Amino acid sequence: MIAHKTLLCLCPLLDRIGSMQRKTCYFDNAATTLISPQALRTYEETALMHMANPSASYAAGRESHRLLESARASVAEVLGVKSSNIFFTSGATESIGIVMSSLLWAKTPGEVLISAIEHEAVGAWAAILKEKGWTVRTIPARGGFIRPETLEGMLTKSTRLVAVMAVNNVLGTIQDMKGLSEVIRRKESEFGRRIFLFSDSVQALGKTDFTPGRLDIDGASFSGHKIHGPRGVGILYLSTPRIQVLSHGGGQEGGVRGGTENLPAIAALAVACRQLADRNTSHIVQMNRLIRDGLSGTDKTVLSPEHDTTPYILSIATHLPSEVALRMLQDKGYLVSSGSACSNNARGKAESVYRACGFDRYASGALRISFSHDNTLEEAQGLLEALREL
Ligand code: PLP
Repeated sequence: MIAHKTLLCLCPLLDRIGSMQRKTCYFDNAATTLISPQALRTYEETALMHMANPSASYAAGRESHRLLESARASVAEVLGVKSSNIFFTSGATESIGIVMSSLLWAKTPGEVLISAIEHEAVGAWAAILKEKGWTVRTIPARGGFIRPETLEGMLTKSTRLVAVMAVNNVLGTIQDMKGLSEVIRRKESEFGRRIFLFSDSVQALGKTDFTPGRLDIDGASFSGHKIHGPRGVGILYLSTPRIQVLSHGGGQEGGVRGGTENLPAIAALAVACRQLADRNTSHIVQMNRLIRDGLSGTDKTVLSPEHDTTPYILSIATHLPSEVALRMLQDKGYLVSSGSACSNNARGKAESVYRACGFDRYASGALRISFSHDNTLEEAQGLLEALREL
């Protein structure tokens, strides 16, 4: 039996577990979320009713184009920015790649500063940029936070880009993006040249009050499947579209991302974005608190800090290797992760984040619990008991 009403038919993994007649509760929502029924319906309706290419000049094409622009306006409204700053992509990885690869156009390599807790989608660019002669330096993240004063001490006249994720996908820590952008703008006037502040904001959307314009960020990435939208669609926010891209095509998305737009997924993503406003965060806070408080006084350690951390992500450590604990929890019907399940080497990557934050001795036994509105308090109570029994 599956706990979520809708999971049974939609998720083969859970379905398989379900066929073993075990109640399965999904607590890995930072890895991916279940598409909402409204987003799914919009996807289907758009695929069937608006099949014309948005670039086609006949009426049906113009109608698809109108829908595309209305989705863009919806997303822009949710992010508190202008429509002209929103570009649709195939996901956060592509959004990140568009920004990072644009550096390769520079006539002379400069310096980039990348936080110690970035997702692989950003981290992988460090090696490429180094090979191309760039200096890549790591901004420390003790306790999971990047301090503006630490960044200030690291910025030099050669710094071209700073990458700091808005919410960490392993610990849930929320960065002081406003503080970081203020430091950058101050240094820009001192050095007399622009520094691009990029923020991988995949885990911030829907999990914090996140508006890139107000935070004075130059670029940000988002992903549909993390907010109950479809997979294979993402957003790139750019404060100015004057970015030199490596990949070229039919000029769609203002030339930032060529290729026929994935209209059904984009329309469904816009619906998922609009639904974020209806989400009840206090329910998530309650589940998080239940597990936090329930583990205190046990041999399990809560790693996610209490302050400046989204309640949607809770990292804990047990005395068992994380793979063993994961398997035991799965056998009891609870799916959690050992870190960032969206990376090929999920465990290794999560371990490096825990180490960068100063949690070395917990790194190999850490687990990430990530909540969604589909989870119930009853499920959270069950997970707590399963954790206690480990
Ligand atoms: N950045 C973060 C923080 C993530 O958690 C993920 C997760 O998968 C990604 C980037 C990659 O997103 P996508 O799957 O849309 O490429």
